[in-house]
Amino acid sequence: MFCENCGKQIPDDAVFCTHCGAKQLKIPPPIQTVRSVQSPQPVRPSSPQSTARVNGGADLITMGQYLIMFLITAIPIAGIVMLFIWGFGSETGPNKKNFARAYLVMMAIAIGVGIVISIVMGAIMASLMSSMYYY
Ligand SMILES: [Zn+2]
Repeated sequence: MFCENCGKQIPDDAVFCTHCGAKQLKIPPPIQTVRSVQSPQPVRPSSPQSTARVNGGADLITMGQYLIMFLITAIPIAGIVMLFIWGFGSETGPNKKNFARAYLVMMAIAIGVGIVISIVMGAIMASLMSSMYYY
């Protein structure tokens, strides 16, 4: 059998561990001690797995759905309309909602950066044009 505390191999009939001195459970067959040790372990990994299953099962976006979403968002006006529907509609699941909102935020940033660049470029062009008139 193996020690309950340190896991080192000890005699099957040992009451105390020969390595660390920890008291062993009084169950002679080693299979039962292994079961008693293993029983609390599957509980820890199973709890995040079950929550992941619940989250995934509630709103699982498949690869095909992602492809359809990317294709729809590629359409200039309909894509933005669909993103607003997905992002703020009540029918869509949380995963699709977050995807649509993230996409909208990214588009807003891209548009904002584009406007800033166009203003800067416009200012540079205007200054160049005015300087050209002076010379
Ligand atoms: Zn031990």
